[in-house]
Amino acid sequence: MEITTPVSGVKGVGAKTEQLFQKTGVYTIGDILLRFPREYTRFPEPVEISGASAGKKQAVIVRVESPVIVKRTKAMQIAILNGTHLDKKMECLWFRMPYVRNTLTRGQTFILYGNVQEKGGLLSMEQPVIYTPVQYEAVAGSLQPVYGLTSGLTNNLYKKTLRQVLDAGLLLPDYLPAQTKKTYGLAEYNYAVSQIHFPKDFDALADARRRLVFDEFFLFLLYMQLQKEQGQTLENIYQFREEHLLTPLLEKLPYKLTGAQLRVLDEIIRDLHGPHIMQRLIQGDVGSGKTIVAFLAMYLASASGYQSALMAPTEVLAAQHYETFEQYVELFGIKTHLVLLTGAMTAKQKRRAYERMQLFDDAMIIGTHALFQEKAVYDHLALVITDEQHRFGVRQRETFSLKGESPHILVMSATPIPRTLAIILYGDLDISVIDEVPARRLPIKNCVVGSGWRPNAYEFIRKEIEAGHQAYVICPLVEASENAEGENVTDYCEKLRQALPDGIQVDFLHGKMRSDMKNKVMEAFAANEIQVLVSTTVVEVGVNVPNATVMMIEDAQRFGLAQLHQLRGRVGRSDMQSYCIMINTSDAKGSSKRLDVLNRTNDGFQIASEDLKLRGPGDFFGIRQSGDMEFQLADIYQDARVLQQASDEVKRILDLDRALALPEHEGLLRKAQDYFERQMERLNL
Ligand code: ADP
Ligand code: MG
Repeated sequence: MEITTPVSGVKGVGAKTEQLFQKTGVYTIGDILLRFPREYTRFPEPVEISGASAGKKQAVIVRVESPVIVKRTKAMQIAILNGTHLDKKMECLWFRMPYVRNTLTRGQTFILYGNVQEKGGLLSMEQPVIYTPVQYEAVAGSLQPVYGLTSGLTNNLYKKTLRQVLDAGLLLPDYLPAQTKKTYGLAEYNYAVSQIHFPKDFDALADARRRLVFDEFFLFLLYMQLQKEQGQTLENIYQFREEHLLTPLLEKLPYKLTGAQLRVLDEIIRDLHGPHIMQRLIQGDVGSGKTIVAFLAMYLASASGYQSALMAPTEVLAAQHYETFEQYVELFGIKTHLVLLTGAMTAKQKRRAYERMQLFDDAMIIGTHALFQEKAVYDHLALVITDEQHRFGVRQRETFSLKGESPHILVMSATPIPRTLAIILYGDLDISVIDEVPARRLPIKNCVVGSGWRPNAYEFIRKEIEAGHQAYVICPLVEASENAEGENVTDYCEKLRQALPDGIQVDFLHGKMRSDMKNKVMEAFAANEIQVLVSTTVVEVGVNVPNATVMMIEDAQRFGLAQLHQLRGRVGRSDMQSYCIMINTSDAKGSSKRLDVLNRTNDGFQIASEDLKLRGPGDFFGIRQSGDMEFQLADIYQDARVLQQASDEVKRILDLDRALALPEHEGLLRKAQDYFERQMERLNL
């Protein structure tokens, strides 16, 4: 076995299982080592049957007082064990496992671990895992890794495979210079990789994580820094027309641009006329009006005889931008050519889009990552704007230069990060901030309530819809799952259809749906043919339906604050009063304190900095701050300190050895490139 051996080289992984692994992005032994757990669970303290409650995964103490019965149905054999404690009964079932009766001998006590259900007053467990008290005690204290899975691939199989790989003792080269490790007290690479999967205790996990988080930031920043140097020397070969071209357009807008929008537009125009190509970030909180700024910049390109492109992270958002642009073209009465190019389009539609790109040298092209595909050929592409993109997606310069173009680059982001962090993370870009939201906006009214308040919430939504408005309801899960607790989109949609009057259309949206279905649902919601949209966080980024005035978030405590802020930003996009209802289904003190921050303020920057203060260093389970998972482990908010250290270290090394030619820096460049490729693949870029 070697790092490059396919996963099928592991014992017990056949062709079928290999395909499942590949679905999760794991092809080789190296891949499985470097794909880290999503979270960790601890086994719960065992409870007696009388203390067990339905709806949760629990470890239940069961004394075998009567023998196991094996029932034969037509389809299978079912082993049944009846347990009792203080008048409370529980039925435990195992399907197709008659042999458990040999294990569960009379007079002995076992810990049965699984999902507890309640049917007609009787508690039951299906297929619980069987432990002796001694066995259970051995696992109880440990942290169990949980991996991102795909249907058919269980967490247990994943763990077992990984265990074998780790036991084979393969060594990954530790590329970090010894001095770096010493300065920041970082763990050895191979130790960190093994402990992140199977931590021996909490401290070991914390050490492992810190090393790997450092690596992520370090490699990312190193790569970005090297890219930046290449970009800075690129000459601006484009001749843009003067900005007064935009004046008649601004007069036709139904509103006045804010001072911040005007200032940022000005900064962009200055760059477009500058000696080097632009590399700029526009940071603006949700609803601050970045789209119109993008349109105007692209129109300036078009009027100057150049093509420009706007890239969105999702099909839904690309389609929406395209429509918005169509409306602007009509409103302004201007001549230009719009092209939509997304991955979900049919081959014929794409061909037509390519033709239009060949035909019109002033085209404004809007799309998803399909914009980067080989077949997309541009003609004098002078400006590329990415909206709400992953930091890793901003690598177009390379892609475009391969196509013989060197466009100006503009990145638009609503991620509310403090300036000190932005300067590090976006160190390769100049930064503009839209720090003002359009006037006439009423601040969103917020509340954090328990699940008992749901009926009131539904009643409130009903009234808002009667007044002609619309609502979003966000659930953390797509469908009911054994591995996770929380509301799911599919069942919740049904529940709401029951709870709301017949005339109200309720539909759902989630990331596992086909792209054309997603677009359909989103279009119907935008057209108010659907009044309530039950969704996962896929609506988190960028979507603009100003008529929606209610955002209800189920299991709000399970989301990061920045993510909740992004979700809330989907409402309050017009001059109508909007509301955000956060349902807190946990009784942990910390969660209500965290949610309270959102209750108090609508300012993304303030939320981000409050959140930094509230989080302790050990607090890294479960919740991720940014919903976008740009880094695999690292979280820019809670790992801000490590980010700073990695940034300092990149600077030190590059100052010392710009070419990375010293022996102690051997392999760094390769690893950084490798890391980038891996991330791009993981993020499907
Ligand atoms: P974001 O910055 O989150 O991308 P959008 O560009 O989608 O925000 O703008 C949100 C809404 O605000 C849109 O409906 C847009 O038409 C409107 N808008 C943009 N600028 C202004 C302004 N200066 N005054 C009033 N409304 C504006
Ligand atoms: Mg936007």
